[in-house]
Amino acid sequence: MQTKDSLTESVIDVANQGQKDGIKYIELRFAPKFHTQKNMSIRDTLEAVCKGAEIAESEYNIMVRLLVCGMKHHSNEENINIFKQIHDTELLKKYIVGVDLAGGEDDDSMSQHAEAIQYAKDKGLKITLHAGECGCIKNVYDAMKMGAKRIGHGVALFDDKEQLNHFQNSKVLLEICPRSNVQTKAISHIKKIDLDSLKRLNIPYLINTDNRIVTQTNLIKEYLTLLENNLITIEEIKRINKEAIDYAFINRFDKKEILKNWD
Ligand SMILES: [Zn+2]
Repeated sequence: MQTKDSLTESVIDVANQGQKDGIKYIELRFAPKFHTQKNMSIRDTLEAVCKGAEIAESEYNIMVRLLVCGMKHHSNEENINIFKQIHDTELLKKYIVGVDLAGGEDDDSMSQHAEAIQYAKDKGLKITLHAGECGCIKNVYDAMKMGAKRIGHGVALFDDKEQLNHFQNSKVLLEICPRSNVQTKAISHIKKIDLDSLKRLNIPYLINTDNRIVTQTNLIKEYLTLLENNLITIEEIKRINKEAIDYAFINRFDKKEILKNWD
């Protein structure tokens, strides 16, 4: 997507698909830098997606917010340059609720990006970080230490029960993406997803799609996959969704709005 219109339309389209899944609140991630190959500036991409969110909210019964991704193969300078612009106008301020660092991981990813993460923190931005998707538990620790409120994936924790115990009662939510994690071999089998342990250790988590197209999934399929493998119950799906509202990157008034129609 290299034009403003295509970006705007794709946000509307994903929001439309989301509301068909029954989603009332969605946070969409995107990496602005990927969309600057033709004529768009970073600022153009930010405005285009926010416009999409605004239109989607007027058309569908869903609250749409955006997360801006820096990339781990980009420099701190490049990522900071993106983070710098995300609250430049009222429209951007309303719809962009946080930042992320996505992309490939090595054994010491987080420290390499400490500067960009610190910048986001100093700016008061809410932070979720991709970590522990490619086998390295250290990145999950580091991401938490550096102030992430949520962790993208974090499934490396399932390989080490002892390490998992250290996260007991953590107030950092894991964004688990079961079908994507199987597809990318982040986990060897769906049964590796040990939601019972997360519940027992009081580690907050939520089920996500990661991406809908490459993984050919949607939220219903994710839940069905877990239900068919006896990894979750309907009651637990309700519980984690309600708990996740606490971890959404919106203000308390918007949270109240979502809770209003909960039952
Ligand atoms: Zn991801």
